[in-house]
Amino acid sequence: MDEQKSNCEENDSEPTDDSAPSKQHVSSEEESKALPAPDDMSGAPAASSDPPESIRACALCNCVERSLHGQRELRHFGPSSEQQTLKPSTSPLPQPGNDDLSSIGFSHSPCLAALFNDSGCWVHHWCAAWSEGVKQLENEELENVDKAVISGTQQLCDYCKRLGATIPCHAEGCSRFYHFPCSAASGSFQSMKQLVLLCPEHIEKAEELGEESWCAVCDSAGELTDLLFCTGCGLHYHAACLEIGATPIQRAGWQCPECKVCQTCQPGEDSKMLVCDACDKGYHTFCLQPAMDSLPSDLWKCRRCRVCMECGVRGLGLPGSAQWFDNYAVCEGCQRHRSTMCSVCSKAANPSVTLQCCSICH
Ligand SMILES: [Zn+2]
Ligand SMILES: [Zn+2]
Ligand SMILES: [Zn+2]
Ligand SMILES: [Zn+2]
Ligand SMILES: [Zn+2]
Ligand SMILES: [Zn+2]
Ligand SMILES: [Zn+2]
Ligand SMILES: [Zn+2]
Repeated sequence: MDEQKSNCEENDSEPTDDSAPSKQHVSSEEESKALPAPDDMSGAPAASSDPPESIRACALCNCVERSLHGQRELRHFGPSSEQQTLKPSTSPLPQPGNDDLSSIGFSHSPCLAALFNDSGCWVHHWCAAWSEGVKQLENEELENVDKAVISGTQQLCDYCKRLGATIPCHAEGCSRFYHFPCSAASGSFQSMKQLVLLCPEHIEKAEELGEESWCAVCDSAGELTDLLFCTGCGLHYHAACLEIGATPIQRAGWQCPECKVCQTCQPGEDSKMLVCDACDKGYHTFCLQPAMDSLPSDLWKCRRCRVCMECGVRGLGLPGSAQWFDNYAVCEGCQRHRSTMCSVCSKAANPSVTLQCCSICH
């Protein structure tokens, strides 16, 4: 996948070139993959100057193509029947989500016409394939995706309580629906072979699926709620068997050790990959901005997962070169402020005083 390398722009920081998505609409999977990735930070505080309408997002999960949640590529789906041709909408859609699990989907029922531009809609492959009523034909063609989008505008996700949920729990009588990213975040069981989801309350039914519910390390179903689902190969792993956590942010878009690819360049070399301690996503050292020459010896957090515990600033709101302290829990500015404060009385001391002993509290 050599041509992918030209696409290796910093997903984890400010775009360095003009990465506004092209207006041309291609339905071929290869072509759409080759397009520059839309800036997926538009919802972050440091919003780009791109007008919102130029950002293409999924009509179900409302994330852009390059998302951390493993939805695969955005695909264009035409109407499944001739009858409804919605006029292109002039009313703007809400800003796409910024990969924060709280911004998946839609808070208000989105105007249908706004979701259907160019007589069709854009939906991630997995968001579409898992949806109720969508049929998978040969050669990965999917049918009735437009109908799923229409029903999603009325369906709340049981996990994030936002609209656009189309993936039902398979248990009889259960009325829970999820977005694709929320399926994993909620701790539901997912079967990639059968495209079947079982919500946390009905997860014990996964044992009926036999080997598919077995952990790839210990070869048993064991504690089903502890299973992580790999969005790459569909295998399951116990968090405990891999000695990692199972937080919602780790579960969503999780990739097993065999499938882990760099979130910036996607399929690429599998050398020098840094794994974020908070979200378990991988990044090449050379795909970061600024690039790192070697793997750090202590734990590392990706920019999305850095939040200053003092001022609340997020990593994506600061330049990639910003320094962080205390395991990425204190931003540069607060650290500077801290160093002029007495650690005992928290009062600012004369900066010229060395703070071994503050003159105010001693
Ligand atoms: Zn989606
Ligand atoms: Zn959701
Ligand atoms: Zn259920
Ligand atoms: Zn296991
Ligand atoms: Zn995998
Ligand atoms: Zn990379
Ligand atoms: Zn992270
Ligand atoms: Zn701070």
